[in-house]
Amino acid sequence: MQNVILFDHPVIQTKLSDLRDFSTDYREFRALLGEIASLMVYEVTRDWPTRPQIIQTPLEKMTGQVLAREVTLVPILRAGLGMAEGVLHMLPEARMGHLGVRRDETTLQPIAYYQKLPPDIADTEVLLIDPMLATGGSASAAITALKNAGVTSMKFVCLVAAPEGIQAVHRDHPEVQIYCAAIDRQLNEKGYILPGLGDAGDRVFGT
Ligand code: URA
Repeated sequence: MQNVILFDHPVIQTKLSDLRDFSTDYREFRALLGEIASLMVYEVTRDWPTRPQIIQTPLEKMTGQVLAREVTLVPILRAGLGMAEGVLHMLPEARMGHLGVRRDETTLQPIAYYQKLPPDIADTEVLLIDPMLATGGSASAAITALKNAGVTSMKFVCLVAAPEGIQAVHRDHPEVQIYCAAIDRQLNEKGYILPGLGDAGDRVFGT
């Protein structure tokens, strides 16, 4: 599938299986979600440009490489927050924006209720994070909000994607790359991913 990068790494898959297990409590869930997010960063950022920087080692000067652009991490509230710490662990210099998009439980349509982004976000590499890509409505609305803020370089990082969500994001934003650890079977009538892992927000926050 074009523009979908699936992580089939055995360590990620093992952690994801633990995460899906209904007996995993919120402490363990939070830890696993963070660990998987950290592991994903390594590959998600692979094609980011670097620039040369002169550094002084204890022995001599050399030209090292550093990220060419600033990084902005944007979790979709609230479940996206559960991945943020893991990503920041690998990219501590990243700034954070927040997008609040929730689903109307009846229509399943996205409702944007909060947006706070760094003013110069347009000049940065953006990682949009949300563990579940279900109908794709929230992801698509969040990507539109980032484009409206001038963002030109962004990736969407999730854990579990439904085929319906991938299709929706591809339809609305075909150029945006989607990174995920699993593509599950389908959505149920309430918009939950099957087999999925349940409500990610509830499981992260113990609600
Ligand atoms: N959001 C979740 O948290 N879980 C799903 O299965 C779908 C959307």
